[in-house]
Amino acid sequence: MAASAPILRLEGKVAIITGAASGIGEATARLFAAHGARVVIADVQDELGQAVAASIGLQTCSYKHCDVTDEKQVEETVGFTVEKYGSLDIMHSNAGVVGPVEGVMDLDLNKLDRALAVHVRGTAAAVKHAARAMRARGTRGSIICTASVAARQGSLGPVAYTVAKHAVIGIMRGAVEELGAHGIRINCISPFGVATPLSCSFGGMTPEEVEARCCEMATLKGVVLRAGHVAQAALFLASDASEYISGHDLVVDGGRTVAMTSAISFAAVD
Ligand code: NAD
Repeated sequence: MAASAPILRLEGKVAIITGAASGIGEATARLFAAHGARVVIADVQDELGQAVAASIGLQTCSYKHCDVTDEKQVEETVGFTVEKYGSLDIMHSNAGVVGPVEGVMDLDLNKLDRALAVHVRGTAAAVKHAARAMRARGTRGSIICTASVAARQGSLGPVAYTVAKHAVIGIMRGAVEELGAHGIRINCISPFGVATPLSCSFGGMTPEEVEARCCEMATLKGVVLRAGHVAQAALFLASDASEYISGHDLVVDGGRTVAMTSAISFAAVD
């Protein structure tokens, strides 16, 4: 029997992924391209972003410098994508930084502003300009925003990061009805800890140390959460397999945020 052809779940679709020079965004860019999408990597790490695009293949992948805190650059990235590939079907707003790690009583509010500029302003700009481009062409697009388990509970990240990620969920919830009227879906993905430059910089740990710490904290044992697992969730939300899913926060945490409360109460009983 002849081997069946692989299913390309994003064939013919065009995607922008912000923060795709590294980590979760890079893994998602590779998976989207493997599923037939043409992908624009939008990031501020030019050399790295260009190298990732080249390794995916310049026939299907491009790099565009885009600082998401600058609305004009986000608008230009959307324009570049539509001009080069003819449409925009998927926007994955994923760029992120750890931000200040101090507690609220020592928080430098200027550093808070800078973290919010990346996560909140950056997400708002990506959603705004992607949705405008999709509406203009009548594209029933999919917008995905990377939030975090820190958007669901306290104590899973520094206070500034927790604030920023709650706001990312807020953008998704605030936009869902307006975008739905144009057939555009918007969802979030909330991962637990993945060893990337971002998570390693928080606490100055090596990737191995981050993974060991996350495995220790994990509810689901026997599997290490990697960027590829999060990319699979993004693929589902980007593809027509999730055609009627909008306004959802897809938590990729092996049950950690659900189990957390009961784990604490069991600990109290012991
Ligand atoms: P990463 O450091 O590997 O990737 C983040 C990328 O964002 C980098 O390439 C960086 O250059 C880019 N970036 C930062 N500021 C930018 C800006 N102003 N404009 C454009 N690009 C910018 O880290 P990652 O873990 O892959 O992070 C991706 C997303 O996942 C972030 O939103 C992060 O908050 C979120 N997240 C990560 C984890 C984790 O444990 N790694 C868990 C939950 C959520």
